[in-house]
Amino acid sequence: MTGHVRRVAGFVASVCAVLAAPLAAETVAIRAGAVLTDAASEPSGPATIIVTDGRIVSITPGAGPVIADREIDLSTKTVLPGLIDLHTHLTGDPGGDFWKDATEPDEWGVVVGAKNALVTVRAGFTTVREAGSGTETAFALRRGTAEGVIPGPRIVAAGPALAIIGGHADVNGFRPEVNELLDSGFTCTGPVECASKVRLASQNGSDVIKITATGGVLSQQGRGLEAHFTPEEMKAIADTAHSLGLKVMAHAHGARGIQQAAEAGIDSIEHGTYLDEAAGKAMKANGTVLVPTLMALEGVSEGLGKGIYTPVVEDKIRAVQPLMATLVSRAREYGVTVVFGTDAGVFQHGRNAEEFALMTAQGMSNREVLASATTGAAKVLGMEGEIGRLAPGYSADIIAVDGNPLADVTVLEDVDFVMVRGKVIE
Ligand SMILES: [Zn+2]
Repeated sequence: MTGHVRRVAGFVASVCAVLAAPLAAETVAIRAGAVLTDAASEPSGPATIIVTDGRIVSITPGAGPVIADREIDLSTKTVLPGLIDLHTHLTGDPGGDFWKDATEPDEWGVVVGAKNALVTVRAGFTTVREAGSGTETAFALRRGTAEGVIPGPRIVAAGPALAIIGGHADVNGFRPEVNELLDSGFTCTGPVECASKVRLASQNGSDVIKITATGGVLSQQGRGLEAHFTPEEMKAIADTAHSLGLKVMAHAHGARGIQQAAEAGIDSIEHGTYLDEAAGKAMKANGTVLVPTLMALEGVSEGLGKGIYTPVVEDKIRAVQPLMATLVSRAREYGVTVVFGTDAGVFQHGRNAEEFALMTAQGMSNREVLASATTGAAKVLGMEGEIGRLAPGYSADIIAVDGNPLADVTVLEDVDFVMVRGKVIE
């Protein structure tokens, strides 16, 4: 009896020892041909990056001996921080008839999203901001990549966007009773109801509040592209979000809608198509940044005249086309800070880095566009101490390319190696 008890006790003790033992920290040495630690610096010569437990421990010149469990040979590559896209929709693919809102359950978005998370991270984007998606889908993906259940980028998720009734991000084009059935629960009217929807989004797990401040191009709503929310509603949304420590990202096309959003204290304007001087000045005065999403227009333009879009949408696409060609240069002329975001999902996921060339075509330097997708984007996320540069203590979000992106930013369209939170993406 005593012996049996002792054996059981011994078994329990050994199980406890296994459970209590800390997981052995794996140390990885990355042998880099050159390291660009920060968009503001220059590539170094050969260097060794030590990564332990998902974090960068050290970056030292040369390829001298180190104690590591594993070495990764990137000795012919330039190694730099993982890229950040501030505007993606992983849960959707381009095209797609609007009536699919009525036939595809939100859960399908998680399946599509898992596929797109891998495509996106393989393209070198180690952090994305999910800019509006159905119910809990982006939150499920966020958890999936954070826990390593699925490969993908770190996800900062908005969840469902706040919209006016019948506005962009609400359902449109169906019979009234179908619209009602498909309602996301995030439309609002008046400052009180809009504030309460911000609190609801916060309760549900939103990292950032997304609103559709003006009409949108790809929805069936035909009410133009100007402001949808009133100034009082926008202010209630911004103030409530800020009181909860959340930023607000506003989809906005029309100039007065952009201006109104900036004056309300909204943190970023997404798209910003009709930006004019008054709107630009309001953005500058309020520290509102612009996420231009030039690739969105590039992607939808490729589908014009092919029966992909309804006539109401085709008209809106043709109206915004000429404006996007000068958007970034106008914003910079008005002193607005431009940060990187693409609207992937409106175009094919994985093409995110093609945005860089569209930005440089409007006068930004290679260094400026790289900063917009690393240090600049990290700052917008409030994560400037965690991602966007390579330094001891930072998350090991690391990519490698051939050549020097400061000399030719299009080398970022072909990323050869990706590590997120210390894990290599296959
Ligand atoms: Zn979008």
